[in-house]
Amino acid sequence: QLYNEVQDLKGNIRVYCRVRPFLPGQGSRQSTVDFVGENGDILIANPSKQGKEALKMFSFNKSFGPSATQEEVFMDTRPLIRSVLDGYNVCIFAYGQTGSGKTYTMTGPNSLSEKDWGVNYRALNDLFHISQSRVDVFKYEVSVQMVEIYNEQVRDLLLTEGSNKKLEIRNHSQLNGLNVPDASMLPVTSTADVLDLIKIGQKNRAVGATALNERSSRSHSVLTVHVQGTDLASGSILRGCLHLVDLAGSERVDKSEATGDRLKEAQHINKSLSALGDVVSALAQKSSHVPYRNSKLTQLLQNSLAGQAKSLMFVHISPDIESFGETMSTLKFAERVA
Ligand code: ADP
Ligand code: MG
Repeated sequence: QLYNEVQDLKGNIRVYCRVRPFLPGQGSRQSTVDFVGENGDILIANPSKQGKEALKMFSFNKSFGPSATQEEVFMDTRPLIRSVLDGYNVCIFAYGQTGSGKTYTMTGPNSLSEKDWGVNYRALNDLFHISQSRVDVFKYEVSVQMVEIYNEQVRDLLLTEGSNKKLEIRNHSQLNGLNVPDASMLPVTSTADVLDLIKIGQKNRAVGATALNERSSRSHSVLTVHVQGTDLASGSILRGCLHLVDLAGSERVDKSEATGDRLKEAQHINKSLSALGDVVSALAQKSSHVPYRNSKLTQLLQNSLAGQAKSLMFVHISPDIESFGETMSTLKFAERVA
């Protein structure tokens, strides 16, 4: 019994790989992805080698090929959403180089019809549906925060007037996931509310940026959904939270080219992504020391990664031959945390 509890304390991590399709205009070109298996295997072909020499296999909990739909990708995520309403903390990450499809998975394409909805909307939609179905047993209250971590500083994305105020991270275990207490916390009662808030958040993300894409690929955005359920019979309260994280692009910046602000950004991203990798792999290996303190990202997510928490990382790869190097380093990162 005790052994099981200790095991549970070390977290629960799944890794899914998603291959982006070639984009319209790119034509159908040679892909570095040779094969995507039902069992989560994915076979990568090195374009500069021949035959068996060229092939390298990676194995994940699940792998999605370029034709996977948003709905298929979300399907296996649903049990995690349900567990938030049971009082668990859940983190869902999108990892990958810029342009590999992170925002597509989490949010969706710009022209957003319901079938294109990403994980964020589907998750919230499920949360509201399940809480409705439990209405005789639990009264649920849902509220949302959205912050960005840029150059190791945390910024509120839901202030309507926008703000550059730096926010503090505090780890109060009794507050269960409320680690940025000064960030706006807005109650939501429907998926439509959430759609509106995410739009505000994305607009604020552009504030102070030279170009929208630049900023969004150089910062982590964290949408946190806090759920409080009151048991109508006993009056007891349970709390769960869901972090939906669109990570900064994982590409390595050429040190000889990057200078000044660019270099600083790159170093911050590098540091926080490797800190995340270290934490998740320490948890996966059930190591006794988990180095949360090495980045704002891992501090912010600390009590949603350990303990009874559940995590899911979507790692994204581009099929292009030019991306082969980044694809390999993405898959090696993912293999380490799986
Ligand atoms: P990232 O957030 O990793 O930088 P994006 O999500 O912005 O990448 O994706 C880059 C481009 O590829 C966008 O135009 C996006 O709409 C498109 N895209 C990404 N994934 C898919 C997919 N699974 N199906 C169709 N288009 C996709
Ligand atoms: Mg993006």
